[in-house]
Amino acid sequence: MTSAIVIGGGIAGCSTAYALAKRGIAVTLIERHRTLALEASGNPIAVLYPKFSTKFDFTTTLALQGFQFTLDLLKQLPASNAFFNDCGLIQLAFGAREQARQQAILHNERLITLQHLDPKLAGDRAGITLTIGGLYLPQAGWVQPVVLCKALCSHALINVTTLSNALKIEKRANEWQVFDSKSNGFRADIVVICNANDIKQFKQCDSVKITSVRGQINFFAQNEVSKNVKSIICSNHFLSPALDGAHSIGTTYAPNDLNPNISAADTRENMHALRKISPEIYENLDMNSIQTRVAWRSQTPDYMPLAGQLLNDNDLRKNPPRYNAKPADLPWLQGLYVNAGHGSKGMITAPICGELIASLICKNALPTDDKLASRMSPSRFLLRELGLKQLANSIFD
Ligand SMILES: Cc1cc2nc3c(=O)[nH]c(=O)nc-3n(C[C@H](O)[C@H](O)[C@H](O)COP(=O)(O)OP(=O)(O)OC[C@H]3O[C@@H](n4cnc5c(N)ncnc54)[C@H](O)[C@@H]3O)c2cc1C
Repeated sequence: MTSAIVIGGGIAGCSTAYALAKRGIAVTLIERHRTLALEASGNPIAVLYPKFSTKFDFTTTLALQGFQFTLDLLKQLPASNAFFNDCGLIQLAFGAREQARQQAILHNERLITLQHLDPKLAGDRAGITLTIGGLYLPQAGWVQPVVLCKALCSHALINVTTLSNALKIEKRANEWQVFDSKSNGFRADIVVICNANDIKQFKQCDSVKITSVRGQINFFAQNEVSKNVKSIICSNHFLSPALDGAHSIGTTYAPNDLNPNISAADTRENMHALRKISPEIYENLDMNSIQTRVAWRSQTPDYMPLAGQLLNDNDLRKNPPRYNAKPADLPWLQGLYVNAGHGSKGMITAPICGELIASLICKNALPTDDKLASRMSPSRFLLRELGLKQLANSIFD
């Protein structure tokens, strides 16, 4: 394989393009906006944080492996300390449920380094007074997603084409063609669909299940108290240290809400979260400095991303395989892949999924185990619908 088209210039598209280019594949990345990372990947700061459940399930495994993968990737990129800061993160133990979760997590030796901090120690790490303690993750931190996306696409084998809205994907002979709104036709051996909530615009993604989840984030100017914040501080929202004089506080979570307007109620929710984390910062807040950004996560029903090769939906429905069919017998769309559905954790899940796809294409060892890779197959929903759950769960066995 020598050429690929990647559709979408957020973290999923940029990290997939990078993983392919690193293997010598020439990539054309198509982005509909005038520049990369203007949608979900466009927040000034994103937290790198593997929040996990008490069960050692697939989402926890992916969070841990993806977190480590993104940290390693950042180390490979030149001058990444300009857009990544491993300042640590405190997850405050608000409420009995969160306290129980933290106790259970602390006793799981398979998880990464976690420390329990009392309010005094938590405040020392955070740089401000805190009334409750919680879990401290020293390796966690923040990244500037826009700069990260640009750094990934600066690879010599990646050619970014902006203001190009991909409309249709077709296979002609042994080659894939992507047509955009300006009647450009791009050709390559491989296409990777990385356009988040819009993947369903392509007929090959008909059976994929994905939901838009609106998120509003607010920013406020640093003040005398807040300027001391030196770690990320989380409740069910997060407060960042100041970057270029502004803190981020967020975010709201509203499935199926497509309203692009700023919501006063959402700003109130974020400010309420700020007051709960630090009444002192809230009291010193300059209300006139508050700014807002709205974007949409792409969420799958099982909270696992969509990463891997697509199956032909029509063929699968017309000729459903027997329960004991082998993955190799399925009607794969050779050369057509998806990297999407990253929910609230794209900075730690999209890069490892990009690596997974590049590894599948180049027949390299996968960055995850086979069971985890199967759980992310973009065609799993159709296989399950056809009663082939076992097969869906063992595509790479
Ligand atoms: C408010 C908010 C806060 C978040 N905070 C965090 C956080 O702290 N940490 C974290 O890890 N994650 C966070 N997330 C989640 C994270 O931002 C996403 O998971 C991630 O950005 C998704 O990346 P993506 O590349 O899949 O999608 P996007 O960044 O949305 O990229 C998709 C791209 O495809 C382009 N596109 C779409 N259709 C076409 C087409 N037909 N042709 C060409 N281009 C097309 C779009 O223009 C866009 O640039 C947050 C999300 C939100 C909304």
